[in-house]
This record gives sequence, structure tokens and C-alpha cells, in this order.
Amino acid sequence: MLETQLDLFEKLSSMNIPFVDLKAQYNSIKYDIDQAIEEVLETTAFIGGRVVSDFEDQFAKAYGVKNCVSVANGTDSLYIIMKMLGIGKGDEVITAANSWISSSETITQVGALPVFVDIDPKFYSIDETLIEQAITPRTKAIIPVHLQGQMCNMDIIMDIANRHGIYVIEDCAQSHFSEFRGIRAGLHGIAASFSFYPGKNLGAYGDAGCIITNDDSFAEKCKMFARHGALKKHQHRIEGVNSRLDGLQAAILSVKLKSIGSWTDKRIANAALYSSNLNGIHGITIPQVRPETVHTFHLYVIRTHHREGLADYLKDKGIETAVHYPTALPNLEAYKYMGHRPSDFPIASEFQNQILSLPMYPELTELMIDYVTDCIKDFFQKVR
Ligand SMILES: *Cc1c(COP(=O)(O)O)cnc(C)c1O
Repeated sequence: MLETQLDLFEKLSSMNIPFVDLKAQYNSIKYDIDQAIEEVLETTAFIGGRVVSDFEDQFAKAYGVKNCVSVANGTDSLYIIMKMLGIGKGDEVITAANSWISSSETITQVGALPVFVDIDPKFYSIDETLIEQAITPRTKAIIPVHLQGQMCNMDIIMDIANRHGIYVIEDCAQSHFSEFRGIRAGLHGIAASFSFYPGKNLGAYGDAGCIITNDDSFAEKCKMFARHGALKKHQHRIEGVNSRLDGLQAAILSVKLKSIGSWTDKRIANAALYSSNLNGIHGITIPQVRPETVHTFHLYVIRTHHREGLADYLKDKGIETAVHYPTALPNLEAYKYMGHRPSDFPIASEFQNQILSLPMYPELTELMIDYVTDCIKDFFQKVR
């Protein structure tokens, strides 16, 4: 008995927990993935063809949307949606102060001006109460980002957008299959953007993304633009871009799509275990799930005033963490020209120094989560 406990202790004290573990996931579906890849190689269906359209159909069906237009990556999907909505020079688009730069960079790419709105201190997504005051006669769209897998309050955002006659483009790169009041992320506005970057909840083995929309003619427009402005070979009705999902990625995504339900459930269960273990520890704030939503926990983010110390301590214990994101968008050098001050976005600017993302993926075991949370408890006992 004593020996097994010692063994376990040994094992725990030498545990290595990466931030994400794509290898573990690959191993769990290796046979199907290898077979799917081989099929693409055998048929040399590298660009376009059945594998790609099959994935588009399967994703649309699984998601409950009429159209899925595959593109090269999530960033392109945002750019293409805005471009096809006619957003451009002289226009403004509102987005959250804390996100990945794609959410704002694509606004600039179409020629419009990104307008940042601070985040909500409880749920970390765009503060819905601050959106209306950011609207001007030039505002054409709002890009709510369902960061970390947590949905924004889409009732409030849709109401504001409808009253002002502006588009809503959901950035769902971190929120595959998340829900707000029974409606999935991406099904509220005119169209939505998804990324299948390897580390996302549904991830390819390279760059990939898609646009979803229930508007058939808008889907066709986006598809045409992403394929050099031609729906039929050599019939270029407009100039477009080259933004395609390749056959290998489509085949891989089709295999992985079959597991997304169980993987999502596992993420939610892992988050619940983290939260019950960490609840009540003095010095950290655990993530809150917005009522009436399904939070799919792309990331599990805690806040603490001892972030650097905790991250270093965990690293020593073999636990890898990350920060999403260390600099709020308006505070980045890329946006220096706008002349924003951190105090213009007090919550995002404060939280950028406190947030810490813990390891989060479906393959985490209870033992691994217990080890992480025990280490966090140890750290705060030493700090006090
Ligand atoms: C990952 C991500 C994107 C961009 O996706 P890519 O496929 O990497 O281009 C956009 N927005 C958010 C919030 C993201 O996390």
C-alpha cells in the first residue's frame, strides 16, 4: 500500500503536462487519420474535389447551418465576409479589445477602421453595455468574439445591431459548438468565421478555416471571391483571392468532426473539475460561465496578481501554461498610430497582466488536472 502511494507520488512529482497535446489526440484516431490521408494521396485530390465538398457538407450538417464555405484559414474567413459585405474605406467596424489580432487586422485589410470596445470584467468578452456609445454613422458591423469558448450576450448585440442597421459577424475561432440560449455560435448574424488552426477545438494539421451562413447567395459570393472570383473554371466574374482548404486538411477534418461532440463534452468536464478543485483558493479568480450558455472551453483562463510567479512555479513542476493575450489589441504597437491609452480600455489593460491559461484539451485526465490544481494550491500556500 505504502509502496503504491510512493509510486504515485513519484509519478506526480515528475508529471509533464504540455499546454496542448495534439500527439495524444492523433494517437487516439491514428488509424482513421492515416487512412484518410492515404486516400487523398492515392487519388491526388490535393486541391478541391469531393473530399473538400464532403467536409463542407458534413460541417454544415453537424452545425445546423445551410452553407459552409471552406477557406485557407480563420483570418481569411473574416476578411472575405467583410469584403463581400462591401465594408471598406471610410467604414468602421467594432470589435473586442481582447482577442487575437485577426479580429481587428482583417478590418484594416478591407480598408476600414477597427474600433475597440473594452471587455466585460466577468465574462472577458466584449462589454455589451459599451457597444452603443462606440457606434457612429460610419459603423458598418460588429465582430463579437466568443473568446475562450464563452459566448457573448447575443440577444443584446443583435438588438443593438438591428436598431442601428449594422451587420453582426461572429468570430467563432474559439467557440465551435458553443451556445447562447440554445442557439449555436455563428448562427446569429449574417455570417460567421471559423478557424481550424491545429490547436482550436476542431483543428486541422495545418491552416484551415470556413465561413458559415444561412444566406445562400451570400455563401456563393464568398465562395466565388475565395476562388479567384470564379465559380466555374476560367469564368472570373470578379477579381478575388486564393483562399482554399486543401484536400489533406479536409480529409483530416472530416475524421476529427466525428469526435467533436465527445471532445467538447470532455473539455466541459475538465473545466468543471478545474473549477471545483480551484474554487475558494485565495488569490485566484476562476472563469465564470455565462448563464444559459454552453461554454466549450477552448481555453481555461484564471486570473491572479501573481501570474509570473505562478507560471514559473508551474513550469518547474512540468506544467506548461500560456497567456491569451499578453497585450490587449489597442495596446499593441501595431495600433500605436491610433493614440489609444491603456486607460481607455481599463479592464482589458488590467486583465492582460493577470490572465493565465491552464492546460486544456480533451485528453487531460483527472489525475493530470488534480496535479495541476495541487501545484497551484501549493504555490498560493507559499505566497501567503
Ligand atoms: C485563431 C483565431 C483567429 C484566426 O484563425 P487562423 O486560422 O489562425 O487564421 C481569429 N480569431 C480568433 C479569436 C482566433 O483565436
